[in-house]
Amino acid sequence: MQTRESVPYVGRFAPSPTGPLHLGSLVAAVASYLQARVNDGRWLIRIEDIDPPREQPGATDLILTALDRYGFEWDGDIIYQSASRDAHEAAVATLIDAGLAYRCSCSRRDLADLPHGPLGVIYPGLCRERSIDGDDAAIRVHTDGGDLVFVDALQGQVTQNLESESGDFIVRRRDGLIGYQLAVVVSDALEGITDVVRGIDLIDSTPRQIWLQRKLQYRTPGYSHIPVITHPAGDKLSKATAAPGIPLDAVATTLVEALSLLQQGPPSDLARNSRQDIWLWALENWQPGKLSGLKAVVKTALT
Ligand code: GLU
Repeated sequence: MQTRESVPYVGRFAPSPTGPLHLGSLVAAVASYLQARVNDGRWLIRIEDIDPPREQPGATDLILTALDRYGFEWDGDIIYQSASRDAHEAAVATLIDAGLAYRCSCSRRDLADLPHGPLGVIYPGLCRERSIDGDDAAIRVHTDGGDLVFVDALQGQVTQNLESESGDFIVRRRDGLIGYQLAVVVSDALEGITDVVRGIDLIDSTPRQIWLQRKLQYRTPGYSHIPVITHPAGDKLSKATAAPGIPLDAVATTLVEALSLLQQGPPSDLARNSRQDIWLWALENWQPGKLSGLKAVVKTALT
């Protein structure tokens, strides 16, 4: 996880307010925080609140309270992604003007009949040549044929062919909401993010994001995708698997558990120390290389 010389490090944690902070997200927050701090960097918090139908009332407060209780110290004010709506729309307009995005009026039923892959529907560009007026349409980008290759600092080389694996993906939905891929790229650029440390569940999104960065002439940050935390049965800890919020009355043990899941090998008595001393230990001993190539870590009853 080397950072480029002479560009000051700016990292971020970017939760969506879809539920409380669970152990899997805590692990991502700890990794991105430690990586920013050991690089003398800034660490920003961005609440990705641009998809109200998926959001849970009160989740933002729960997440911020948990981060505060766990002793994270972020730089600047909390950033709310919804405040960048104009910048998102401007990026969509730039793509349309450049002939890189088009309106798509395909219905859900039309899409259901198309080929699907691990990333969902592989949209083959049915509406590329149609001229569709009005706002009752999604906006899709016009992907091109070549492979997109990037090197993840932890997971190594990743190759994806956008046209055959994701197809023309959505940047603005038919309901007017901005798609995650575009929103995250615009926000990372606006905030000058140099390094993204996040869960491996997003690694398949990264090629689409790099494609957008190139088309919008943004700099591509460094990427490090950390393993996902799974239940012993193999399913990932997430809101969908009803992962509970991290406890606010057991900060030391949970923080040490996160460090252990991050393969840092904290000493068995570390949890008896204060929150501040646990962070000091974590900063002095942070070795992200221990996560190299690791894709999943099982949360056992003991960790
Ligand atoms: N908001 C996304 C999530 O909560 C994370 C986005 C990112 O880190 O790029 O899954």
